[in-house]
Amino acid sequence: MKKILFASSEVHPLIKTGGLADVAGSLPRALAELGQDIRIVLPNYQSLKKTEDVRFISTVTVNHIDSNILETQLPGSNVIVWLVDCPALFNTPGNPYVDESGNPWDNIADRFSLFCRVIVEIAMDRGHLNWRPDVVHCNDWQTGLVPALLSLESNAPSSLFTIHNMAYQGMFPATTFNNLNLPLQLWHHDGLEFHEMLSFIKGGLSYANRITTVSPTYALEIQTPEFGYGLEGLLGHKHKVLSGIINGMDLDQWNPETDTAISEPYSFKTLANKMINKTSLQARSSLPVNKSVPLFGLISRLVEQKGIDLLIDCLTEMVDMPLQLVLLGSGDKSVERKLLDFARLYPKKVSVTIGYDEALAHQIEAGVDAFLMPSRFEPCGLNQMYSQRYGTIPIVRETGGLADTIEDALPKSLSNNTATGVSFKEVSSGALLEAIKRTMLLYHDKKTWKKIQIAAMEKDFSWQNSAKQYLALYQEI
Ligand code: ADP
Repeated sequence: MKKILFASSEVHPLIKTGGLADVAGSLPRALAELGQDIRIVLPNYQSLKKTEDVRFISTVTVNHIDSNILETQLPGSNVIVWLVDCPALFNTPGNPYVDESGNPWDNIADRFSLFCRVIVEIAMDRGHLNWRPDVVHCNDWQTGLVPALLSLESNAPSSLFTIHNMAYQGMFPATTFNNLNLPLQLWHHDGLEFHEMLSFIKGGLSYANRITTVSPTYALEIQTPEFGYGLEGLLGHKHKVLSGIINGMDLDQWNPETDTAISEPYSFKTLANKMINKTSLQARSSLPVNKSVPLFGLISRLVEQKGIDLLIDCLTEMVDMPLQLVLLGSGDKSVERKLLDFARLYPKKVSVTIGYDEALAHQIEAGVDAFLMPSRFEPCGLNQMYSQRYGTIPIVRETGGLADTIEDALPKSLSNNTATGVSFKEVSSGALLEAIKRTMLLYHDKKTWKKIQIAAMEKDFSWQNSAKQYLALYQEI
């Protein structure tokens, strides 16, 4: 049995802004089910969902600042969560990264450096918790200083650093390094310095014993200039300790057999019931109810990463084709406006909902025939996994986790029943449009379509699978 301290700036269902929270809420649970002693450490934000049983267990002083350690449990599990309670830094409205108006916290470096220092105290068993981990598993830049600070300790536990998205690095001016009172030994090119700036993520990349990211393909991509954001050299140098492990998905929440948000549950044995979800979605989206027209969906943050501009460039041609489109998302205002304009011009073809709507997301996954993910990059991606589980064929750009979780419908994969989606390589609206046309051809070949649906629905995207791979790494280090 391994003792693992799992450090994350967000953990579902306590606090969530993105995919990191899902991983931090699911992976520890799966590791606990594999018999490991795992504890989560998280800041005690004001906006944290309140749990019933929270008790004070100790006080840790770092850098002349006192933090209380509160103990609670991850809802619905026995996993212990330690909350770093430092009201001066975390008892403010807003989310972990931005204030109520959406502006990044101006003291964000102070917040997460304190968090990191407290994690180090716990890891070194100086937090009066009577527990010493074998491994500290850090996630993203907010915990990047931990492996760096541990490198200065003797008899420190091993560390693993997981990159969920290289686009966020925690970069600050050099003066921040001094203001944070960080040990001078860490200020050099192979340490925390990046072009005369302080880089939190470099702490993880330079000092952790192992580095992982959330898909094997993304692990390769971040070693190239296009995806490495200047750190591709360091990552290339570390390739022997760098690997990719695909995230699992929440099989309880995303299960077409038990989903209470959809009109009619179904499984691969009762696939005909998926049609009921399609017609209800058409009705609620004010599209003509038509069983035979292929219905395409998209649910996304509307940001450049997701390649929505490629879709916008295809829309003029798409509306001339016999298909319908249901889109849900929010983000870039100009993208929102363009999509709404299309929906206004072509109300019988395109339905657009701007906002965040969990129930509608489930209804789209269940109701559409094909799901669009034309991402420029995608470290792992979740919706393509949800889609497959719902017998909805994902159309993806071949990048990151999308490349690793979809088997493109080509003659060979079709003949051996492994095809589960459609993928395209080039970042262009032309390539996306080709993939859409290819999907339409498959759709009208009912037998083949059903074969792809069943292969997709039978795939194993469980956390158990991924947790075993993390456990193997913990054991290795
Ligand atoms: P990312 O974490 O980069 O946004 P993922 O595909 O990994 O992308 O995860 C996105 C998650 O957020 C999925 O569960 C998706 O369904 C959900 N989501 C994104 N936008 C919306 C929205 N507007 N309404 C409801 N759910 C959304």
